[in-house]
Amino acid sequence: MNPEKFSQQIEEVRQRSQFLENRVGESPRLQDNLLLLQAIEELRTALEELRVAEEELREQNEQLTTANQQVAIERQRYQELFDFAPDGYLVTNTEGKILEANRAAAALLNLSKSFLIGKPLINFIPEQERRAFRTQLIQLSDKERMQEWEICLQQRKGHLFDASLSVTTVRDRQGKLLGWRWLVRDITSRKQAEEKMRSIQLQNLELQESVRIKTHMMAVVSHELRTPLNSILGFSQLLLRRYYNLFVPELRDMIERIIRSGKHLLTLVENMLDFSRLERDKLELNPQEFNLVELVTATTEELRCLAEQKNLTLILHANIENPRILNDSVRLRQVLVNLLSNAIKFTDTGGVIVEVQQLNQDKVMLMVKDTGIGIPESQLTNIFQEFWQADKSTTRKQGGIGLGLAIADKLVRLMHGTITVESNLGAGSTFRIELPRQISH
Ligand code: ADP
Repeated sequence: MNPEKFSQQIEEVRQRSQFLENRVGESPRLQDNLLLLQAIEELRTALEELRVAEEELREQNEQLTTANQQVAIERQRYQELFDFAPDGYLVTNTEGKILEANRAAAALLNLSKSFLIGKPLINFIPEQERRAFRTQLIQLSDKERMQEWEICLQQRKGHLFDASLSVTTVRDRQGKLLGWRWLVRDITSRKQAEEKMRSIQLQNLELQESVRIKTHMMAVVSHELRTPLNSILGFSQLLLRRYYNLFVPELRDMIERIIRSGKHLLTLVENMLDFSRLERDKLELNPQEFNLVELVTATTEELRCLAEQKNLTLILHANIENPRILNDSVRLRQVLVNLLSNAIKFTDTGGVIVEVQQLNQDKVMLMVKDTGIGIPESQLTNIFQEFWQADKSTTRKQGGIGLGLAIADKLVRLMHGTITVESNLGAGSTFRIELPRQISH
């Protein structure tokens, strides 16, 4: 009852009882008056109680109004959340007829919300998938929810897209199934990303396989080439040594050319073999204690004639207290030969400086610095990649196949060291190797 009306009625009763009381006071019959006064008094008490009850009622009514407003605000909030949620939400009855839909669902199905309401959800499933959809729906009645059901949905204009549906059952208090709540997501981009990922993985596998075949081929070919090449070289050298005096100068020159080209070819073949071994982790170091300065001096001297042929200076600086280190001297020499011959190969004026330094108690440093053509800064990151060459035309003239630095890098890593390069086009290059004094056996 309306509390205003209720208090109005109480007031009316109070006025009437007052009126009655006044009238009783005017009446001459005392006995009846007493009884009446008593009744009026009781009525007044009852009225008082009613007033208290009325007060409580008013309070409860206010609370109820506040609660109602709260509920309305919450409903509004829920409606907005539902409406503006980034995912599509639908509510259907047990037959799958759409009862509610938010904006995202309408956008996904390319239909306005008002057109969506009342439509069977199955309308948006392509013909060929409807059977499976129905079967799933029947099974769903026994379950409470189903997550990430991947399905193809069809928009009104026929456009198909991959969607994921998450479904929850809606039940009344008695547990009777009323319908389903659907969360609809467009997973086209996810599917595309998955597809891309799969093809990348496949490509990766193919690549790994081709790398494996390549290194295997390199190993086999270089091994097969090395044996006859060694015998060609060996016999040519023997021929020249034994029958030197029998040959006219022209013939000697020819044999010397065979030997030079043979040696060059052998270096290439050995580089290929080393590289393929390093790629397959088949190369093992053979650490021994040796004098680093002696090794660097001897290697520099071996290459001095190459520098002199080009009128280049070749200087060695050594600044190391204890030059004895534990490493694979053969492999370290190989790295140094590569850096030095590159430095000479790519320098036309000026010269090359080799430096040996002690960095700290446990580390030594080797540096090969030239005043040559340099390497463009943008290409410095590629320089240690196999078969990489900065300028194909120069290197074609100079020879080489781009394996030297890749091998040097792999060897230095195997020695637990680092190799870095600093260079600028036209301003020379500096290769720097840092190595631990001792590598484990
Ligand atoms: P290769 O010398 O057989 O071509 P490397 O792996 O030793 O192979 O060198 C790769 C490329 O790096 C060279 O072709 C050259 O372009 C560049 N390069 C290496 N060292 C130098 C250097 N000191 N100065 C300029 N360019 C260099």
